[in-house]
Order: sequence, then C-alpha cells, then structure tokens
Amino acid sequence: MRRLLVAGNWKMNASVAMTQSLLSELRAAQIDQCDVAVFPPFPYLTQAAQLLSGSAVALGAQNCATEESGAFTGEVAAPMLADVGCAMALVGHSERRTFYGETDETVLAKTRQLLASKVTAVVCIGETLAERQAGQEEVVVAQQLKLLLEQLNAQQWQHIILAYEPVWAIGTGETATPEQAQAMHAFIRAQLQILGADVAQATRILYGGSVKAANAAELFSQPDIDGGLVGGASLDAAEFLGICRA
Ligand code: PEP
Repeated sequence: MRRLLVAGNWKMNASVAMTQSLLSELRAAQIDQCDVAVFPPFPYLTQAAQLLSGSAVALGAQNCATEESGAFTGEVAAPMLADVGCAMALVGHSERRTFYGETDETVLAKTRQLLASKVTAVVCIGETLAERQAGQEEVVVAQQLKLLLEQLNAQQWQHIILAYEPVWAIGTGETATPEQAQAMHAFIRAQLQILGADVAQATRILYGGSVKAANAAELFSQPDIDGGLVGGASLDAAEFLGICRA
C-alpha cells in the first residue's frame, strides 16, 4: 500500500521569518493522514531542519550537484544535503530543465548522487503544452524515464519518487483533469513494470501542477496518484494544510 505524500516546493521564495512561521504552523498541525515534506531554498535548510527536528514533516532540497565534491563553485552536493538533514531532493523540475538546461543525463547523474548519499530523489517529469497538443505526451514522458529505468536497479528505485508535472499546469492555475492525470500516472506505472511488478506497485507517483485545497481530493483519489508536488499553494500554511487533509 502506497502512502500519500504531499510535498511543498517553495521554489525561490523564503526568508528567515517566513521559514519560521510556515514551519511552526506545519509542525503544530500534526498531519497524520499523509506524509508531508517541504523543499525550501538552500540557505534555509539548516534553519528548517532545526524547526522540524522531531516532527514527522520531512525536509527536502530543490536541486543538487552532479558531482560529489570539489571545484564546482556555486553548487551544492548531495552529501551536504544529507549532512544538514535532508531526506529528499527534487531532481529535474521543469524550471531546471527549461531555464538551466538540465537534460535526462544530468537528471540521472544527480539522482545517482542523491542515492549514494541516502537521500530520496523526487524526479520530476512532464510534457509541455505543445507536446501534449501534438499528442506526444506519452513519448516525452517515456523518454524522460528511459535512462533512469535502464541505469538504476530495482533496489535503487526504492529510493525514487516520481512527480508527474505537466509543464502547462505548473504555476498557471490550470490543472490536469483527474482523468488526464490518472491516465498519465497509469502509463508511467506501466513503464516501471520493466523493473518488475514490485517496483511498479511500490513507487509513489505524485501529481504536480496548480494543486490546491479545492482540487486535491479529487486528484488524490485516483488510483495511481500518490499525492502531490505543490508549488504556489505550499507558501500558504492554511492552503497547504488543506491539501494535506484532502
Ligand atoms: C511545482 O513547482 O512543482 C508546481 C507544481 O507548482 P504549482 O503548484 O505552483 O503549479
């Protein structure tokens, strides 16, 4: 049985004061209906780890380096994330693929780094509007999964969570219908069969793209949707908690 996960991606939004107040509210809410994780920007991870210490809310980062250590100015390595208390990190978010040229190869390299540091990789995949309009959404998503399925084994996949995020639904207010999302999640789960039925059944596949308290219950009730990766709505404690309770 897969447990739902609601993960809040703060993107490039935070301050010391905001981290303090948002995480204090999440902590006090003691959500037990689902797993909860937050992904603040790097400078706030240590503060967040202290605020979440002893709570069930997991801490994640939004990115990591393709290398383990060394002369890579400005990068943050997976062992550092583990060291400051991150249990998870996002990889291949569409904003990273679009604005920073991340490829399926860099996504694989970052995922390997995270797994080597015992940090769960939350790998984001999803098609653009043009790709969906061209009927290519399954081809695109299968291509984004290909290297991960070829290069990582079933044991490593125990530490991978997928997030299906149609790019046209991220930050746009437009959400995939529950039927559209379910169809793609079922397709993704079918792709995982190549690593065995156990991996296909056990891997959590989150939906991301304008998830709100008002639409979360319908999305999360779909059989292959195992929770959500939430951007904008994760910055508002009441809205995010509404999603967690959905
Ligand atoms: C995201 O950033 O992963 C995301 C899904 O954003 P939003 O919820 O704002 O669409």
